[in-house]
Amino acid sequence: MGDPTNLQSFISYVLPGQHQLPPLPYYYNALEPIISEKTLRLHHDHHHLLYVEGLNKAELKLLEARQKNDFDLVKHWESEIAFHGSGHILHSIYWAVMTPWIGMNPGWLLRKEIEKYFGSMTAFQQQFTKAAEKVEASGWAILAWQPTFGHLEMLTAEKHQNLTQWGSIPIMVLDVWEHAYYLDYQYRRGDYVKAWWQLVNWQEVERRLRLALKVQVPISI
Ligand code: MN
Repeated sequence: MGDPTNLQSFISYVLPGQHQLPPLPYYYNALEPIISEKTLRLHHDHHHLLYVEGLNKAELKLLEARQKNDFDLVKHWESEIAFHGSGHILHSIYWAVMTPWIGMNPGWLLRKEIEKYFGSMTAFQQQFTKAAEKVEASGWAILAWQPTFGHLEMLTAEKHQNLTQWGSIPIMVLDVWEHAYYLDYQYRRGDYVKAWWQLVNWQEVERRLRLALKVQVPISI
């Protein structure tokens, strides 16, 4: 640590099968009444944990396959890595970009990039809200930085891994799987999405944008 030229200090290297469930950055009841303690406990301690375990298992199975030179199930485990790995990553971001300190506002840099690409904060929020409401079945609404194009991008994911744009870096994500809201809102996904805006930790989203802006891609388009 301390040496900014040492890239290693910015890169976390997780050995195969060694991923861990990150702790929530607030108490389980901290997001009430928008997200209940019961929802948060089940969602973090069980759903997210299953993705961590699924990712670890898939990585270890592929390690074993390489050692035995037996790739009969490679298609299955690669698919598991995409699903569980994406689930682990998106949930880790989801916890981080929410806060009990409701009523924050976006900082100047995030606001600038949003206005540059989406036209206005209002247009951005309207698109994100609709995108989240319209995700078919289980998935996510995602605000990402796309270093390949040098601008923000909005994506929706089905399940965790489908409908991505390669190279994009998620900086704000909203889980619209039923497990994220059904106990609190039942079928009313729109009410959950509308209420969720109050929880956004804009400071954290901006921090993630600043980190993403440092990424340089080895291709030019
Ligand atoms: Mn979830």
